[in-house]
Amino acid sequence: MPVLSLPGIVDAHVHLREPGATHKEDAYSGTISALAGGVIALLDMPNTTPPTVDGVALRLKRSLFEAKAVSDYGLFLGYVGGSLEPLTQLAGEVVGLKLYLDATYGDLVLSDPRTLARVFEAWPGPGPIAVHAEGRSIGTALDLARRYDRRLHVCHVPHPDDLLRIDAARQRGARVTCEVTPHHLFLAAEDAARLGAYGVMKPPLVPQAEVQRFWERLDLVDLIASDHAPHTRAEKESAAPPPGVPGLETTLPLLLWAVDQGRLSLERLIELTYHNPLRVYGLAPPPDSGIEVSMAEPYRLPETGYRTRCGWSPFAGHSALGRVTRVRLRGRTAWEEGALRVAPGYGQPLERAGG
Ligand SMILES: [Zn+2]
Repeated sequence: MPVLSLPGIVDAHVHLREPGATHKEDAYSGTISALAGGVIALLDMPNTTPPTVDGVALRLKRSLFEAKAVSDYGLFLGYVGGSLEPLTQLAGEVVGLKLYLDATYGDLVLSDPRTLARVFEAWPGPGPIAVHAEGRSIGTALDLARRYDRRLHVCHVPHPDDLLRIDAARQRGARVTCEVTPHHLFLAAEDAARLGAYGVMKPPLVPQAEVQRFWERLDLVDLIASDHAPHTRAEKESAAPPPGVPGLETTLPLLLWAVDQGRLSLERLIELTYHNPLRVYGLAPPPDSGIEVSMAEPYRLPETGYRTRCGWSPFAGHSALGRVTRVRLRGRTAWEEGALRVAPGYGQPLERAGG
């Protein structure tokens, strides 16, 4: 059976739910799910409980990851209002600042324009300001990035026309990068009826014609990130299902299938899932690492058998290609033939490039 060697995926947008909602996922189950999907490193978002917005919360999260992670990782800082001091004090310890300009899961929404301006002004880097922004909020973020000359990263671009707005801002000198999710590339609003609450996410799925435009404009995209956002089946089947879907284990087989279909090259896949996430966040790759993928015939993604604690996938039934058989992380086999080969805590924080 042909085996494909790849550098592995660096997933720049992941919610591991620890601390606060470990019944959905924790730093152990989430990083196992990562290795199973060929993800050697992930960046964890700050909308946990407590939110990662100050030194106390950051130290708590870091100690939990140090004890439990089996893949490498980086942590985001968030902001909920109040003192701007944590931004300047902690900027060097995190991969970036995540701001929520529109409502989603969690409690970190920041919509007051004056506060937003003060945050952009205060953020010293070196990591970018990553934003959850939809509709008009994208324009607000682009304007602020230009006004304060800050590096901006637009997470999970909601609509293919937003790629044009981002590109136009880039042409005018804004330092802006962006990402799209696999669910916006491989699922469409037409799937929503079949998926029910399992297709509810923020930003929502777009119609098939717009999905096609995402693919046509993939040249304008810097990186693909899963926005892995697990919720239990019971939560998804409740009267008020929370937005978000898991994705750590499905990005690679979906994209390899797309390569097989001639929708992008293998080189471009590696750029979008490895080189560019590291470049955008200024991070060094884990040394002596890589993955092996067994490439047989295309197959349908299964309903069950995932390592994520939530145990389901919105992509079940979708065509896929390749199965991760081995993950090498910093000189050791971390994952082989469906089994974990390292102890909790083997995962390390990603280092800054050139540091
Ligand atoms: Zn997210």
